[in-house]
Formats: sequence, structure tokens, C-alpha cells
Amino acid sequence: MNVLLLGSGGREHALAWKIGASPLLTKLYAAPGNPGIGAEAELVKLDINDHAAVTAFCREKKIDLVVVGPEGPLVAGIADDLRAENIRVFGPSKAAARLEGSKGFTKDLCARYNIPTAAYGRFNDLASAKAYVDQTGAPIVIKADGLAAGKGVTVAMTSDEARAALDACFEGSFGAAGAEVVVEEFMTGEEASFFCLCDGTTALPFGTAQDHKRVGDGDVGPNTGGMGAYSPAPVMTPEIIERTMREIIEPTMRGMAELGAPFAGILFAGLMITDKGPKLIEYNTRFGDPECQVLMMRLKDDLLVLLNAAVDGQLAHTSIRWRDEAALTVVMAARGYPGTPEKGSVIRGVEQAAGEGVQIFHAGTAINGGALVANGGRVLNVTASGATVGEAQKRAYAALDRIDWPDGFCRRDIGWQAVARERA
Ligand code: ATP
Repeated sequence: MNVLLLGSGGREHALAWKIGASPLLTKLYAAPGNPGIGAEAELVKLDINDHAAVTAFCREKKIDLVVVGPEGPLVAGIADDLRAENIRVFGPSKAAARLEGSKGFTKDLCARYNIPTAAYGRFNDLASAKAYVDQTGAPIVIKADGLAAGKGVTVAMTSDEARAALDACFEGSFGAAGAEVVVEEFMTGEEASFFCLCDGTTALPFGTAQDHKRVGDGDVGPNTGGMGAYSPAPVMTPEIIERTMREIIEPTMRGMAELGAPFAGILFAGLMITDKGPKLIEYNTRFGDPECQVLMMRLKDDLLVLLNAAVDGQLAHTSIRWRDEAALTVVMAARGYPGTPEKGSVIRGVEQAAGEGVQIFHAGTAINGGALVANGGRVLNVTASGATVGEAQKRAYAALDRIDWPDGFCRRDIGWQAVARERA
């Protein structure tokens, strides 16, 4: 098969690595990709937001499957545009990607299908949103409705903070994404990420993970796209997974089908495991980054076979096997991230650092004058497997310490909750 992978992050490098291992693969292209992906695929200079250009490329290169990494093109309808030209694509339609593209849409679906989630209100004017906050009190959570690159959520511990967040949304801090807001009840519990592979009708569990959003050790400092992750998430016991499937995922699949927008692709549920059971925080409609990296390390089966089964509506007859190992990934970021990362510093020793049970996935890297340099905020994902999260953690940091990049930084405590549980 000829496959085109869209995206350029660590997530896409991990996908390229797994797709590259499939005997079904004839040729892998990636657009725009990065230098790490370039070792697995032919890189193509395509604007992935230009759907007509992507379609034309698929025709020219006889692409049998397009795999879409990031949410932007999905929410903009790239899967619909490709399918209209009879090009097979792994990823949800624009209507189904509303599960990520509009938090209000998802909350209304939850209300209609009795899916456990935080109580909420949807508002498109400041005065009514503030009145709701006054009536409910803090702590409370304010969310821009649309895509805001992970920055549109404020967990407000006081009513004043909540009002300030509402002002920012309606003043246009998040552009069109903040023209509507969701205000919701503050939930407490342990967070976990739960993934399902979906074909429109069937959803199969596709692993669990926990990530670390804050930039600093001990979960302090500003939010980031994610500084590391591990899988599996100990809090996702077989019982919690069974409840999540029955109470959250299956009603979502039914609801989307009834709305005429059956969901096919990766459904990524951000969950709060409360004392009353799992509750939905949000949906994403693609793999997480960096969660994808740890899932790919643990996946035993041929990814391309599974993606094809999802595209062909065959998941009811499919099972998925995982390695009996944990995996952990540490993000190395450029100094300045998540503010303005410094670009251009030279990184040495990446190839030598990888080894048995260790993969180094590239994110924001570039080649400059033959040298590997930083070219973004999150730059490398040092990913390792091990019998336990603790062992994977040791391996990942040992590999990371072999990388010579004085201008990069990382958190030193990725996996701390799981390691503490393993020691208890
Ligand atoms: P992401 O970066 O995961 O795409 P996002 O901006 O789409 O994030 P959410 O995942 O909905 O937003 O929220 C971000 C974080 O805010 C969550 O991971 C969680 O820690 C916190 N959060 C969101 N909603 C709630 C809630 N109702 N109660 C408590 N915490 C919440």
C-alpha cells in the first residue's frame, strides 16, 4: 500500500515508525514531516491545510490510505474532501470531529445521552456567563468553545479569576474559538487518557495513558502541549475501562450515528476518575501527542492492518494485542517553551542515545548545514519501554542523558504517580 501521513510532530514520527514496520506497506510519504520522519518516509512539501493540493498528490502517487495526525485538518473537513474523491482516509469527518472542535457540541451530546460529565452552561454573551458564575460560585472552569491549542481552558479557583477568564474570551483572546464559552462544574479526581479505535459503529479500547501538562517538575508552571506521558495508566483498571466503555464511549458512538455523523478514527477521551466513577472532561478526535508515542511502543499488532480495518468498518471482527510492558516518554523542549522557544541550537548524540527498548521521536527539529537543530518548542521525545513504568522511566532518562543539547530542558519526574504506586 502507498500511505500518506499528515503532520510533523512526535506523534507522527511514532505513527511513521509503526506504519514503516508493516509488511503491507509499499511506500510511505509524509507531509510536511520532520527529519526523524524522513528516516521512515519520503517527505513531501505539501500544505496540509490545502485540501485540494493533498487530494491532487494522492491521485498522482496512487495513495491507498491517508492518515491524518493533527486535529486542525480534521475539524476543517479534510476527511470529507478526500472521501469525496474516493481516497481512503483514517480520521473522522468534519461533522464527527465536532466532538473536538466544539466543546459545547460535546456537552450537549453528553446531556442528551446521559453521559457522565461536569454540569455546564453554554454562553455567547458575557453578562449571562457572569451571572452563571455568580450563581454557581468557584472553583469553576471556563472554556473557549473552539480549538485553542490547549490554551482556552481556565480552572478558576475564585469567582474573580472566572470573570477575568470570561472577559478574555469575549474580548477575543482566542479569536473565533472564544465567541462562545462553556462554563462548567469543577471536578476532582485523577485524570487519565483513554483511546478507542473506531469505525463508525464499533469502538475498540486502544490503550490508556497519563500525561504531564505543566512545564515544571511537581506539576507546576504554565500549561504546555505535554511534557511527557506513560502507558498504561494504573487508575484505568479493567472495571473503570468497562464502565468508561458502557457509560461514555458506547453512548457517544450511538449518539453520533443517530446524528448522522458516525465516528471513525481515534476517539481520545480525557477522563476524570472521580469517587463516583469516570467522567468525561473532553474529547479529542485524534491521537494525543505525546500519548501516541507510548501507545505505539506498546502496540504489538500491525498498525496498518488496524487502521485499514477501521476504515473498512471491520472492527467488530478485529482484536488488538499489546505488549505486556509499560512505556514512558520524556519531552525535551527548547529553552523558552512554552513561551517563545529559542530556535537553531545544535543537538548532538541523538542516534547514539537510542538503543534496546528506546526510540527517540523527533518533533520540532530541522537540519541546518548538516546539523540537527531545534526548530520548535517541543523538540524530541525520548521514549522507552520496560517491565514497569519505573524501569521505562530509568531507561528513558539514561538515554536522554546521552543527548548533548545544552539549550534543551526536560522535566525530571515524568511518571512520578505511577512509580510511586509501583513502590507502595
Ligand atoms: P488539551 O490541552 O487536553 O487539548 P483543552 O484545552 O482542550 O486541553 P480540556 O482538556 O478540556 O482542555 O481541559 C484542560 C485541563 O483543564 C484538563 O486536563 C483538566 O486538568 C482541567 N479541567 C478541564 N475541565 C475540568 C473540570 N470540569 N474540572 C476540573 N478540571 C478540569
